[in-house]
Amino acid sequence: MDYVALSEQIFRELCIIPAPSGKEEKRAEYCLNKLKEFGIEGYIDKAKNVIYLLEGEKEDITVFQAHTDVVFPDEETLPFLEDEENIYCPGCGDDTIEVALLLGVIKKITDEKIKPKNSVLFVLNSCEEGLGNLKGTKEIFACYGNRIKELYTFDGQIGRVVNKSVGSHRYKVTVKTVGGHSYSDFGNENAARVLAEAIKRIYEIKVPEKDTTTYNVGVISGGTSVNTIIQQAEMLCEYRSDNFENLEYMKKEFKKIFDYISTLADVTVELVGDRPCGNNLDEEKMRAMTEFACAVQEKHSKSKVKIKSGSTDCNIPHSLGVPAICVGAYLGGGAHTREEWLKKDSFALGFAITEEIVKSCF
Ligand SMILES: [Zn+2]
Repeated sequence: MDYVALSEQIFRELCIIPAPSGKEEKRAEYCLNKLKEFGIEGYIDKAKNVIYLLEGEKEDITVFQAHTDVVFPDEETLPFLEDEENIYCPGCGDDTIEVALLLGVIKKITDEKIKPKNSVLFVLNSCEEGLGNLKGTKEIFACYGNRIKELYTFDGQIGRVVNKSVGSHRYKVTVKTVGGHSYSDFGNENAARVLAEAIKRIYEIKVPEKDTTTYNVGVISGGTSVNTIIQQAEMLCEYRSDNFENLEYMKKEFKKIFDYISTLADVTVELVGDRPCGNNLDEEKMRAMTEFACAVQEKHSKSKVKIKSGSTDCNIPHSLGVPAICVGAYLGGGAHTREEWLKKDSFALGFAITEEIVKSCF
């Protein structure tokens, strides 16, 4: 059987199925049916993860996963185009091809009837993107956390291995005042004035020097008309860091600002994003996994791999002290844009990389 061709066939069918974070049910169903066709008993959990547990000689679990959700809100069939060399489809590289490759590898090891040393949990998981907040991976750890010893997620391009997690907290801040008429009620507090005070103070924060820490105000909105004192204004803001202490520091700095503006108006702060970063990881084990992932990628792609920090499904295991690595498995570009594309060579290359990493467990 040509497993690369099988993966490509699965990819072509999967790519056009819409799957915004939290609404992955159609893709989940597709993946579960594929497992059934392979003669495998899997299930969909309450976070819409597709799960296949292959018991090995040991209780300890190694997880191999790829995410089914895409950043695009589309609920209709996604547009699919191709030419000689490339395929173009929103979400094709991030992360549809990896889901297809993992399914292809599952079929191959099933046909080969090989047994893993560690038990292996294959997961086609939900909610990796944006405000999905890694719900899928959180659910995997809620169910199997006490047995999981290591995790590989296939996500991103060949040439990239992520071994450090960037954590973030994202907030929606809503300011409300009585507002009023711009002329007759002049002097009443303006909600945007209060919000602006918060923004000004955020941009005065001195970020810690060690490691990388950033902040951003990403969306602001509010107001009714030019002659109305703004009664309600909102913003979305965030901070990020790959250092646990820095994230805690930023949390305190933001809280001080939110507390201050609460003395000026009616302020509600909602935590809309929560991605933890790494804490107390076994450095030796992380180094070994990183070296292995880089070596496999370099062997097949014949090009140098960059080791990076990122926000991926690894954030969850890292925050729990479980070694985890994110491995890229396609060649292409334009992730998170509607022009996303990948090279057709990606199927053979990505399959070889995925297979070798999975088979390290057998
Ligand atoms: Zn992704």
